[in-house]
Amino acid sequence: MEDLIAGAQELRLSLRPEHLRALRFYRQELIAWNERFNLTAITDDAGVQIRHFLDSFSCLLALDPGEWFAGKRIIDVGTGAGFPGLPLKILCPRIKLTLLEATGKKVSFLQHIVDSLELRDVVVIHGRAEDVGQDKAHREQYDWALARAVADLPILVEYLLPFVQLHGRALAQKGEGAPAEVHRSEWALTQVGGQIRRIVPVDLRGLTETRYLVLIDKVAPTPVKYPRRPGMPSKRPLIDERA
Ligand code: SAH
Repeated sequence: MEDLIAGAQELRLSLRPEHLRALRFYRQELIAWNERFNLTAITDDAGVQIRHFLDSFSCLLALDPGEWFAGKRIIDVGTGAGFPGLPLKILCPRIKLTLLEATGKKVSFLQHIVDSLELRDVVVIHGRAEDVGQDKAHREQYDWALARAVADLPILVEYLLPFVQLHGRALAQKGEGAPAEVHRSEWALTQVGGQIRRIVPVDLRGLTETRYLVLIDKVAPTPVKYPRRPGMPSKRPLIDERA
């Protein structure tokens, strides 16, 4: 785990032995399950350490240090094999985490990791953002909604903002297309009650490309018509064609 330890230090995060034990178990199970189910394309050693674990940790750069270990309510939408939510939970155990994922096999894997590591205050939900975002138990209930590699930003804001309480935040982890995606999301953001706060470039150890954290403030309640029914956000993204 040398790459991860060094990369975390560069982000001013220090990993303790209990964090490393949990992450080693998670890596081992990810590789083992991936042989049977297609959980992730990245399973090489350096890839898991940097592109999965360290990239997940980098979300903390968007929070004030005092917020890291507080009991924030966070939902990770389209978490897949748990990224970025589970590494964040391992590092910051007080987070109250909801993992939302549409694919059943990934949900089974997530529950296995949560149970094996005895992680508390983690709820794993098998469902779609369009449905769960209309459920009172989850709508506008979170301090933060996070997502990585789930959808183009105009679509993603329709998934994320319904979960966020007023004055909470959404965080999208994006690649080099981030500035252009932000530009195309302007109309969608006005519709769902979001406003871009800032875009934070992140350089991770060993990666040539720059990653971006797109931070969005929830400035108005999301109208009840959003999110639209399953499939609609991606079929008809909230893009103003006249713009
Ligand atoms: N966030 C993870 C997984 C990215 S792949 C990572 O960065 O590694 C995208 C995941 O989002 C897939 O597992 C897919 O099943 C899930 N997904 C896509 N659309 C979704 C939706 N509308 N609601 C819930 N999950 C969704």
